[in-house]
Amino acid sequence: MRPAHAIIDLGALRHNYLLAKQFSGTRALAVIKANAYGHGAIRCAQTLSASADGFAVACIEEALLLRNAGIQQPILLLEGWFDATELALIQQYDFWVVIHHHGQLRDLAEAAIERPLHVWLKLDTGMHRVGFKPDEYGEIWRTLHTSGKVASVVKMTHFSRADEPDCETTEHQLLCFNETTAALEGLSSLCNSPGVLAWPQAHGDWIRPGIMLYGASPFSDAQNNAARLKPVMQLNSQIIAVHDVPRGEPIGYGAQFITQRPTRVGVVAMGYADGYPRHAKTGTPVLVDNQRTGLIGRVSMDMLTVDLTDLPASGLGSTVQLWGDGLAASEVAHWAGTIPYQLFCNLNRVPRHYFN
Ligand SMILES: *Cc1c(COP(=O)(O)O)cnc(C)c1O
Repeated sequence: MRPAHAIIDLGALRHNYLLAKQFSGTRALAVIKANAYGHGAIRCAQTLSASADGFAVACIEEALLLRNAGIQQPILLLEGWFDATELALIQQYDFWVVIHHHGQLRDLAEAAIERPLHVWLKLDTGMHRVGFKPDEYGEIWRTLHTSGKVASVVKMTHFSRADEPDCETTEHQLLCFNETTAALEGLSSLCNSPGVLAWPQAHGDWIRPGIMLYGASPFSDAQNNAARLKPVMQLNSQIIAVHDVPRGEPIGYGAQFITQRPTRVGVVAMGYADGYPRHAKTGTPVLVDNQRTGLIGRVSMDMLTVDLTDLPASGLGSTVQLWGDGLAASEVAHWAGTIPYQLFCNLNRVPRHYFN
């Protein structure tokens, strides 16, 4: 069998969720959208079901998978409904919904609602992606409360730059949120993972940690709280071929790398079809038998090549870690011009092996 696989450490997931709750002292929705950032949403939800206050996903399709797998906690749809026909299922399955634009308000006004909805009403405090403007927010909040169609309203916003610890934007967003919502009753929710880790003054009543649950830091530099997270995913494979190449020879597609010395090349069963980033540059760290070496040449669909010249004890069958507890996904992501979120979400084809 092809040796490429991902190991998912469910104990680390539980550790990271409880750490998020410990940092904030609030309730926490575990964000498990996009198949739990590639980790497998059902297994992750089942693992957290004993401790989690609720879950958050991107859409009703993702929420239905969880309910049908027996998950009974609240499940928030982070963009609410896309089509008014979803409102029937939302009531039937008791999903919580974000409301973020006027089209949804119109849908709600026209719909027959038998079971009042739990709503998270989104305020745009400066990210300008989704949410209502500060000057209309209070009136919408009041209209919802008097509509008879909602059971509760959580005041919610989202940060655009909380991963930049010295950036004033988050303070401005927090100020806007506090000013806009001060006179409105109800619980509040502001923080994604970087908010949880670096902005204690913004914790509110509900946090929404995503990437930190999977043990990856959202920051580009070292951060004390993030250092306490445990990586959940380990992406592994093996060396499937080894050969010696003289100096001055090209390796792989496009001859993007030319050997600078007589080089012992190791071929790894891992490629961009597995989710390994094609844009990872020569030099991107890779662990072979737990020792660091580097990628050489272009990543192809099913294979990539590494330099084994300085690892003479390693060879055919040696274990390879692409990221995991010995090599942070965020470091690999940096070499590929992306973020660990994308590396995890892109995971494909490789089997996932779970352990507790
Ligand atoms: C995805 C998402 C989160 C989680 O963000 P992380 O940076 O992964 O912690 C929180 N809130 C909303 C609205 C989201 O869409």
